[in-house]
Amino acid sequence: KTMLPEGTLNLPGSIAVEVPTVGAYNGNGASGNGAGHETGVLVNGNKALPPPAIEFNNVTFGYSGERKVLQGFNLKVKPGQSVALVGGSGSGKSTVLRLLARLYDPTEGNVTIDGIDVRDLRHESLRGAIGVVPQDTVLFNASVMDNIRYGRPGASDEEVIAASKMAQLHHSILRMPEAYDTMVGERGLKLSGGEKQRVAIARTFVRAPRLLICDEATSALDTNTEQEIMSSLSRLAEGRTSFFVAHRLSTIVDCDVICVMADGRIIEQGSHEELMGLGRTYRDMWMGQAAGKDLYDKCIPVY
Ligand code: ATP
Repeated sequence: KTMLPEGTLNLPGSIAVEVPTVGAYNGNGASGNGAGHETGVLVNGNKALPPPAIEFNNVTFGYSGERKVLQGFNLKVKPGQSVALVGGSGSGKSTVLRLLARLYDPTEGNVTIDGIDVRDLRHESLRGAIGVVPQDTVLFNASVMDNIRYGRPGASDEEVIAASKMAQLHHSILRMPEAYDTMVGERGLKLSGGEKQRVAIARTFVRAPRLLICDEATSALDTNTEQEIMSSLSRLAEGRTSFFVAHRLSTIVDCDVICVMADGRIIEQGSHEELMGLGRTYRDMWMGQAAGKDLYDKCIPVY
């Protein structure tokens, strides 16, 4: 997997898209987007816009040839909801996120943000609205302050520190040899996996996107660290519409909507309690993971 910095859409197997530094932030008037005049502006230069509603309408998609990776995929997400996509390997979870970020376009159907087809949006508007917390966090050979500021290069030191507090990273940084001036990255202080994830989360707080995409953001962490990171991520998700792709179901139990995918479709959808009550695939996956047996990749619909 190529390692690319945050702010770059680096979903597994996807092409990377550079995210512009201007217009990415919608909170302080620094955005160069001009706000509101054209159809499909998602970033308002003067004030933060509310989180968007997202719809996938009858989406069919294949990367090549005849093989359909998504088939008649439908999903309606209300503003501010958190959505988890779970299901076996190759079921299409990451593909859904790639279509949302418009790394690819559907063959049939459409994806809308606040009712606007993503194809009608300017790239800068779309990229400016989306924040991605990646699986791998790339640290630059720079101070920890500048590493967090990377989320929005115009951010002040105060904004970076506020973001670091939100990501529950501030106290770890204060313990570093030169606090926020400590050099990190390959030639500097090596951060733990959990700290690196927190840098990614702090970067996204600084960036303040309306729409959040987390693709297995806790993949390489031990269970305790994973739970702590998840609590920071849920804080980050507050007030934003958010999508999580997760392997371990324990990390996504609190999501508003959990979608179980198989063969490019949603086969079950609901809250954790609803899906447990349903007693089908999700419950089997949950019981399997709780028992330490990973039935995840044997996620076969039972009806
Ligand atoms: P995982 O849990 O393993 O990450 P996933 O549910 O996220 O899987 P996707 O990455 O969306 O699945 O992939 C769905 C299908 O599309 C798979 O069969 C995969 O091989 C195929 N696929 C993914 N990316 C590409 C690509 N860039 N080109 C061609 N086929 C692809």
